[in-house]
Amino acid sequence: AAKSKGRNSFLYFTPAMEEQAQRRRLLINDLRSAISLQQLELFYQPIIDFDSGAISKAEALIRWHHPERGLVSPDDFISMTEETGLILEIGDWVFATAIQQAANWQAQGHHIQVSINTSPVQFRSDECDLQPWLAKLKAINLNGAAVNIEITEGGLMEAGRAVTDKLLAFKNAGIEVSLDDFGTGYSSLSYLKRFHIDYLKIDQSFVRNLQPDSNDHALCEAIIVMAHKLDMKVIAEGVETEQQRDLLISAGCNYGQGFLFSEALPATEFALLLDKQEEY
Ligand code: C2E
Ligand code: MG
Ligand code: MG
Ligand code: MG
Repeated sequence: AAKSKGRNSFLYFTPAMEEQAQRRRLLINDLRSAISLQQLELFYQPIIDFDSGAISKAEALIRWHHPERGLVSPDDFISMTEETGLILEIGDWVFATAIQQAANWQAQGHHIQVSINTSPVQFRSDECDLQPWLAKLKAINLNGAAVNIEITEGGLMEAGRAVTDKLLAFKNAGIEVSLDDFGTGYSSLSYLKRFHIDYLKIDQSFVRNLQPDSNDHALCEAIIVMAHKLDMKVIAEGVETEQQRDLLISAGCNYGQGFLFSEALPATEFALLLDKQEEY
């Protein structure tokens, strides 16, 4: 079967493509009930403060326990939730769950900032009113400073008033903002200053092949210098080796996150990491 797409382009569906499309439809269907069936879980990955060596933040990373497919990673379902609008409901669930977790850790004496991923769709949507989020924070008595919102360059560039207003509302609530996957998108540098971003997260693609005097080394150094001049702090993602960590520290990077320190863990295991660090 051929389906016309636009005026001059025709897309031919092969059996393999049909199968993929069918798989997608099934997954989307399952996703609709994933929240109510409690199949979603947030894992947490530590973000290390290079000054103190201690865990400073926890990035919340969503996981889907699918009854037949097992643990599904966000790269395999977030885009579907964006296309269907399900991301709005899931995004609300992520926010509520993550801030409750931060409050629980605080009650246990751990002052950890929770870092929450967001989708550009959440910022685009008129439905995504921040007031319910801020009300939730108030309701559990959590200080905005315990929350960091990660946005992507895509979300920033769609800009317009909606994003500016929302970022300002975060700022007024004491919530910090990070620009995720920095360097992979197309944000104009002038946006960084305008939007009062607090942290740049250097994308792991720059860290992966980090060697002394490599192009990636030069890029990391330049990003860090620029960020500091604009009063932003820098978090490096995907730190897997001691050499990468040491090069980043020498370049003045403020925080690091990656398998060298820990992968993302269920909340209870993350709490064990926190307890262990207190013992040092
Ligand atoms: P991200 O926000 O850039 O998160 C970092 C990803 O890199 C995570 O993958 C993390 O597990 C992985 N990672 C961390 N350290 C290392 C390392 O040293 N080496 C390598 N190779 N990978 C590392 P994950 O959990 O599969 O998440 C993938 C992406 O899915 C995230 O990228 C984020 O864009 C999105 N995502 C995750 N949770 C949420 C969510 O709650 N909401 C939204 N909108 N997006 C989410
Ligand atoms: Mg992130
Ligand atoms: Mg990232
Ligand atoms: Mg990413």
